[in-house]
Amino acid sequence: MNEKVRCLIIGSGPAGYTAAIYASRANLSPVLYEGMEPGGQLTTTTEVENFPGYPTGITGTELMEDLRKQAERFGTDVRFGMVTATDLSSAPYKVTIDGEKTIEAETIIISTGATAKYLGMADEQKYAGSGVSACATCDGFFYRKKTVAVVGGGDTACEEASYLSGLAGKVYLIVRKNFLRASKIMQERVLTNPKIEVLFEHETVELTGEGVVQGANLVKHRGQSDEEQIHIDIDGFFLAIGHTPNSGVFKPWIETDEVGYIKTIPGTPRTNVTGIFAAGDVADPHYRQAITAAGTGCQAAIEAERYLSEKGL
Ligand code: NDP
Repeated sequence: MNEKVRCLIIGSGPAGYTAAIYASRANLSPVLYEGMEPGGQLTTTTEVENFPGYPTGITGTELMEDLRKQAERFGTDVRFGMVTATDLSSAPYKVTIDGEKTIEAETIIISTGATAKYLGMADEQKYAGSGVSACATCDGFFYRKKTVAVVGGGDTACEEASYLSGLAGKVYLIVRKNFLRASKIMQERVLTNPKIEVLFEHETVELTGEGVVQGANLVKHRGQSDEEQIHIDIDGFFLAIGHTPNSGVFKPWIETDEVGYIKTIPGTPRTNVTGIFAAGDVADPHYRQAITAAGTGCQAAIEAERYLSEKGL
């Protein structure tokens, strides 16, 4: 027989755990499935210094562990498992876990996050947390007065390069094409910034360094007659080539934008399906911060509570 729950939370980042804290304190008896990366993206960063309440900083893993404990303290049933299929055609909504078990949920909070895209070089794994990052706002502070490179030519890359230029001594922006895809205003900001050097038509092939990133080998004009190998000395290597929101398993029921970010009614975590809410990075192409994710997780739990009480469930 299928298990029935009042509130199912999918994902274990700051959005999921905050939703769990609020939902359990509101007696919704939430069940939370952690997903493939328990604790979410924060567990892949080192120090978190911008989450309010930690004046001396905290590691991403510790922060997530604290949030999990806080959710469990109020009765959240935290489980290991992945959502592998959904049928959200009518309530109660059916969610399959690990291809085996089916849960029927009156409300669902989707907080499955987004995954930063990487170039696919083995060196990105090798130097993960030792000079390679996909979040300038999270890790930029560690590169004060140092030299860093940002990869990408979109708004995120330009924004991250501009942000880092306020901290680092020099910023390279490595762009594979001969133009920036970013909005005009962001392009202008980057191109007129004396601390940023844009390397158009460059591709990264290798990172170098003893234990930490100390340089990058690039190819200029790859495949052309004037192809050139270039080395730059850097202390940090930031990926800004886009994110993939983890929303695939909810299609075709839940509306997303063309990239896959779940569409919510502005100012609320409500999706196009009543009783199903989205919180955190899976619905946020703009801010992508732990604290904003936590905020929307709180909103989602409050909405779930109101929905259930209106329905008398
Ligand atoms: P985009 O998809 O817009 O840009 C990705 C960039 O990364 C492109 O320049 C792309 O190059 C490059 N890229 C992709 N794959 C590779 C690769 N393998 N090697 C090298 N370069 C690669 O993603 P963003 O995250 O920048 O933006 C996503 C959305 O969010 C956009 O709609 C953007 O406008 C929006 N946004 C808005 C902001 C704002 O308004 N303040 C801030 C940040 C984002 P190429 O051009 O060659 O494909």
